[in-house]
Amino acid sequence: MRRKLAAGNWKMNGVTASLAEVEALLAAHPAPRSEVLLCPPATLIGPMAALAAGRLAVGGQDCHMKASGAHTGDIAAAMLKDAGASHVILGHSERRADHAETNAMVRAKAAAAREADLVAVICVGETEAERDAEATLEVIGRQLYDSTPDGATGANTVIAYEPVWAIGTGRTPTLEQIAEVHDFMRSELAGRFGAAEAGKIRLLYGGSVKPSNAKEIFATSNVDGALVGGASLKAADFGAILAAL
Ligand code: 13P
Repeated sequence: MRRKLAAGNWKMNGVTASLAEVEALLAAHPAPRSEVLLCPPATLIGPMAALAAGRLAVGGQDCHMKASGAHTGDIAAAMLKDAGASHVILGHSERRADHAETNAMVRAKAAAAREADLVAVICVGETEAERDAEATLEVIGRQLYDSTPDGATGANTVIAYEPVWAIGTGRTPTLEQIAEVHDFMRSELAGRFGAAEAGKIRLLYGGSVKPSNAKEIFATSNVDGALVGGASLKAADFGAILAAL
Protein backbone atom coordinates (compact mmCIF):
# COMPACT_ATOMS: atom_id res chain seq x y z
CA MET A 1 0.00 0.00 0.00
CA ARG A 2 1.42 3.37 -0.98
CA ARG A 3 1.61 5.89 1.84
CA LYS A 4 0.09 9.21 0.82
CA LEU A 5 2.46 12.14 0.39
CA ALA A 6 1.57 15.79 0.93
CA ALA A 7 4.28 17.89 -0.67
CA GLY A 8 4.55 21.68 -0.62
CA ASN A 9 6.48 23.69 -3.18
CA TRP A 10 7.25 27.15 -1.84
CA LYS A 11 8.70 28.22 -5.21
CA MET A 12 10.53 31.57 -4.91
CA ASN A 13 8.80 32.50 -1.66
CA GLY A 14 10.02 32.53 1.90
CA VAL A 15 12.61 34.09 4.18
CA THR A 16 13.70 33.13 7.68
CA ALA A 17 10.56 34.61 9.24
CA SER A 18 8.46 32.25 7.10
CA LEU A 19 9.67 29.34 9.20
CA ALA A 20 7.04 30.42 11.73
CA GLU A 21 4.52 28.78 9.39
CA VAL A 22 6.41 25.50 9.64
CA GLU A 23 6.46 25.73 13.43
CA ALA A 24 2.71 26.33 13.41
CA LEU A 25 2.15 23.41 11.04
CA LEU A 26 4.19 21.04 13.19
CA ALA A 27 2.40 22.19 16.33
CA ALA A 28 -1.05 21.71 14.79
CA HIS A 29 -0.24 18.37 13.11
CA PRO A 30 2.24 16.51 15.30
CA ALA A 31 1.37 13.09 13.84
CA PRO A 32 -0.06 13.37 10.33
CA ARG A 33 -1.30 10.16 8.66
CA SER A 34 0.52 11.01 5.46
CA GLU A 35 4.16 11.69 4.77
CA VAL A 36 4.82 15.44 4.62
CA LEU A 37 7.43 17.16 2.45
CA LEU A 38 8.19 20.87 2.15
CA CYS A 39 10.41 22.25 -0.59
CA PRO A 40 11.48 25.79 0.31
CA PRO A 41 14.00 27.95 -1.55
CA ALA A 42 17.52 26.54 -1.18
CA THR A 43 18.41 29.25 1.35
CA LEU A 44 15.90 27.78 3.81
CA ILE A 45 16.64 24.06 3.43
CA GLY A 46 19.18 23.98 6.27
CA PRO A 47 17.15 26.03 8.75
CA MET A 48 13.91 24.22 7.88
CA ALA A 49 15.52 20.80 8.26
CA ALA A 50 16.95 21.85 11.62
CA LEU A 51 13.56 23.08 12.78
CA ALA A 52 11.71 20.03 11.54
CA ALA A 53 14.20 17.62 13.13
CA GLY A 54 12.83 14.73 11.11
CA ARG A 55 9.15 15.51 11.76
CA LEU A 56 8.70 16.39 8.09
CA ALA A 57 10.91 15.89 5.06
CA VAL A 58 12.61 18.83 3.34
CA GLY A 59 13.43 19.04 -0.35
CA GLY A 60 15.03 21.23 -2.99
CA GLN A 61 13.30 22.61 -6.09
CA ASP A 62 16.02 21.81 -8.63
CA CYS A 63 19.55 20.47 -8.86
CA HIS A 64 22.30 20.42 -11.45
CA MET A 65 22.98 17.27 -13.43
CA LYS A 66 26.69 17.42 -12.56
CA ALA A 67 28.09 16.60 -9.14
CA SER A 68 30.25 19.76 -8.84
CA GLY A 69 32.22 22.23 -10.90
CA ALA A 70 32.15 25.59 -12.67
CA HIS A 71 28.38 26.22 -12.79
CA THR A 72 27.80 29.61 -11.19
CA GLY A 73 24.47 29.93 -9.45
CA ASP A 74 23.62 26.24 -9.68
CA ILE A 75 23.30 23.74 -6.88
CA ALA A 76 24.38 20.11 -6.80
CA ALA A 77 22.25 17.28 -5.46
CA ALA A 78 24.90 16.44 -2.86
CA MET A 79 24.71 20.04 -1.57
CA LEU A 80 20.96 19.73 -1.06
CA LYS A 81 21.54 16.45 0.75
CA ASP A 82 24.26 18.02 2.88
CA ALA A 83 21.92 20.87 3.84
CA GLY A 84 19.30 18.41 5.09
CA ALA A 85 17.18 17.63 2.04
CA SER A 86 15.88 14.14 1.28
CA HIS A 87 13.96 15.01 -1.92
CA VAL A 88 14.27 17.31 -4.91
CA ILE A 89 11.58 18.53 -7.32
CA LEU A 90 12.77 18.20 -10.92
CA GLY A 91 11.33 19.36 -14.23
CA HIS A 92 8.68 21.64 -12.77
CA SER A 93 6.90 23.40 -15.64
CA GLU A 94 8.19 26.75 -14.36
CA ARG A 95 11.77 25.46 -14.79
CA ARG A 96 10.92 23.95 -18.16
CA ALA A 97 9.54 27.36 -19.22
CA ASP A 98 11.94 29.76 -17.46
CA HIS A 99 15.15 27.76 -17.91
CA ALA A 100 14.40 25.78 -21.07
CA GLU A 101 14.73 22.47 -19.25
CA THR A 102 14.17 19.51 -21.55
CA ASN A 103 13.09 15.98 -20.70
CA ALA A 104 16.68 14.81 -21.27
CA MET A 105 17.97 17.37 -18.77
CA VAL A 106 15.35 16.35 -16.23
CA ARG A 107 16.33 12.70 -16.67
CA ALA A 108 20.01 13.56 -16.12
CA LYS A 109 19.12 15.60 -13.03
CA ALA A 110 17.07 12.72 -11.66
CA ALA A 111 20.04 10.41 -12.14
CA ALA A 112 22.24 12.94 -10.29
CA ALA A 113 19.68 13.13 -7.49
CA ARG A 114 19.73 9.34 -7.11
CA GLU A 115 23.53 9.38 -7.02
CA ALA A 116 23.25 11.74 -4.02
CA ASP A 117 20.58 9.59 -2.37
CA LEU A 118 17.77 12.10 -2.94
CA VAL A 119 14.25 11.11 -3.99
CA ALA A 120 13.42 12.75 -7.34
CA VAL A 121 9.95 14.31 -7.60
CA ILE A 122 9.64 14.43 -11.39
CA CYS A 123 7.00 16.79 -12.78
CA VAL A 124 5.02 16.36 -15.99
CA GLY A 125 2.02 18.21 -17.36
CA GLU A 126 0.32 19.37 -20.53
CA THR A 127 -0.36 22.94 -21.59
CA GLU A 128 -3.88 24.13 -22.24
CA ALA A 129 -3.26 24.10 -26.00
CA GLU A 130 -2.11 20.48 -25.79
CA ARG A 131 -5.23 19.50 -23.83
CA ASP A 132 -7.45 21.34 -26.30
CA ALA A 133 -5.74 19.45 -29.11
CA GLU A 134 -6.51 16.16 -27.29
CA ALA A 135 -2.80 15.47 -27.05
CA THR A 136 -2.68 15.18 -23.25
CA LEU A 137 -1.86 11.48 -22.92
CA GLU A 138 0.64 11.61 -25.75
CA VAL A 139 2.43 14.56 -24.12
CA ILE A 140 2.36 13.00 -20.65
CA GLY A 141 3.57 9.66 -21.98
CA ARG A 142 6.53 11.27 -23.72
CA GLN A 143 7.49 13.49 -20.76
CA LEU A 144 7.15 10.61 -18.33
CA TYR A 145 9.28 8.24 -20.39
CA ASP A 146 11.96 10.74 -21.35
CA SER A 147 12.26 12.47 -17.94
CA THR A 148 12.42 9.31 -15.81
CA PRO A 149 15.75 7.50 -15.66
CA ASP A 150 16.07 3.73 -15.92
CA GLY A 151 15.94 1.95 -12.60
CA ALA A 152 13.24 4.17 -11.09
CA THR A 153 11.66 2.62 -7.98
CA GLY A 154 9.09 3.56 -5.40
CA ALA A 155 11.97 4.43 -3.09
CA ASN A 156 13.83 6.83 -5.37
CA THR A 157 11.08 8.36 -7.52
CA VAL A 158 7.81 10.24 -7.15
CA ILE A 159 5.89 11.53 -10.18
CA ALA A 160 3.83 14.72 -10.03
CA TYR A 161 1.15 15.39 -12.65
CA GLU A 162 0.74 19.15 -12.88
CA PRO A 163 -1.30 20.46 -15.81
CA VAL A 164 0.39 23.75 -16.69
CA TRP A 165 -2.97 25.49 -17.07
CA ALA A 166 -4.03 24.48 -13.54
CA ILE A 167 -0.98 25.93 -11.76
CA GLY A 168 -1.79 29.07 -9.82
CA THR A 169 -4.99 29.63 -11.77
CA GLY A 170 -7.66 28.27 -9.43
CA ARG A 171 -8.73 25.93 -12.25
CA THR A 172 -8.44 22.17 -11.93
CA PRO A 173 -9.16 19.29 -14.28
CA THR A 174 -12.27 17.25 -13.57
CA LEU A 175 -11.77 14.23 -11.33
CA GLU A 176 -12.31 12.06 -14.41
CA GLN A 177 -9.51 13.87 -16.22
CA ILE A 178 -7.17 13.47 -13.25
CA ALA A 179 -8.02 9.76 -13.00
CA GLU A 180 -7.48 9.27 -16.72
CA VAL A 181 -3.95 10.71 -16.56
CA HIS A 182 -3.01 8.97 -13.30
CA ASP A 183 -4.30 5.58 -14.49
CA PHE A 184 -2.39 6.10 -17.72
CA MET A 185 0.85 6.99 -15.89
CA ARG A 186 0.51 3.93 -13.66
CA SER A 187 0.13 1.67 -16.66
CA GLU A 188 3.01 3.32 -18.55
CA LEU A 189 5.27 2.86 -15.52
CA ALA A 190 4.13 -0.76 -15.21
CA GLY A 191 5.04 -1.37 -18.84
CA ARG A 192 8.53 -0.07 -18.24
CA PHE A 193 9.38 -1.05 -14.66
CA GLY A 194 7.00 -3.95 -14.05
CA ALA A 195 3.66 -3.84 -12.25
CA ALA A 196 5.10 -4.56 -8.80
CA GLU A 197 7.62 -1.70 -8.81
CA ALA A 198 5.28 0.68 -10.65
CA GLY A 199 2.74 -0.02 -7.93
CA LYS A 200 5.11 1.47 -5.37
CA ILE A 201 5.79 4.77 -7.19
CA ARG A 202 3.68 7.56 -5.76
CA LEU A 203 1.76 9.71 -8.24
CA LEU A 204 0.93 13.20 -6.99
CA TYR A 205 -1.54 15.65 -8.48
CA GLY A 206 -0.58 19.33 -8.49
CA GLY A 207 -2.31 22.50 -9.67
CA SER A 208 -4.63 24.67 -7.56
CA VAL A 209 -4.98 22.11 -4.77
CA LYS A 210 -6.63 23.79 -1.79
CA PRO A 211 -8.44 22.71 1.38
CA SER A 212 -11.81 22.74 -0.38
CA ASN A 213 -10.87 20.33 -3.20
CA ALA A 214 -8.16 18.21 -1.55
CA LYS A 215 -10.41 15.44 -0.25
CA GLU A 216 -12.05 14.58 -3.56
CA ILE A 217 -8.75 14.78 -5.44
CA PHE A 218 -7.08 12.45 -2.92
CA ALA A 219 -9.92 9.97 -3.34
CA THR A 220 -9.35 9.83 -7.10
CA SER A 221 -7.94 6.73 -8.78
CA ASN A 222 -4.15 6.40 -8.53
CA VAL A 223 -3.73 9.75 -6.74
CA ASP A 224 -1.24 9.21 -3.92
CA GLY A 225 -1.05 12.78 -2.68
CA ALA A 226 -0.49 16.31 -3.88
CA LEU A 227 2.18 18.78 -4.86
CA VAL A 228 0.84 22.05 -3.50
CA GLY A 229 2.09 25.51 -4.42
CA GLY A 230 0.33 28.59 -3.04
CA ALA A 231 -1.64 26.73 -0.38
CA SER A 232 1.56 25.26 1.11
CA LEU A 233 2.79 28.66 2.26
CA LYS A 234 0.32 29.04 5.12
CA ALA A 235 0.14 26.51 7.95
CA ALA A 236 -3.64 26.75 8.14
CA ASP A 237 -4.16 25.91 4.47
CA PHE A 238 -1.51 23.22 4.19
CA GLY A 239 -2.64 21.76 7.50
CA ALA A 240 -6.19 21.50 6.20
CA ILE A 241 -4.89 19.71 3.10
CA LEU A 242 -2.92 17.31 5.32
CA ALA A 243 -6.03 16.62 7.30
CA ALA A 244 -7.85 15.65 4.09
CA LEU A 245 -5.31 12.96 3.22
P1 13P B 1 -0.45 25.97 -7.10
O1 13P B 1 -0.86 24.99 -6.02
O2 13P B 1 -0.13 27.33 -6.57
O3 13P B 1 -1.40 25.95 -8.25
O4 13P B 1 0.96 25.43 -7.69
C1 13P B 1 1.09 24.10 -8.00
C2 13P B 1 2.51 23.81 -8.26
O5 13P B 1 3.07 24.28 -9.24
C3 13P B 1 3.23 22.98 -7.29
O6 13P B 1 4.47 22.59 -7.77
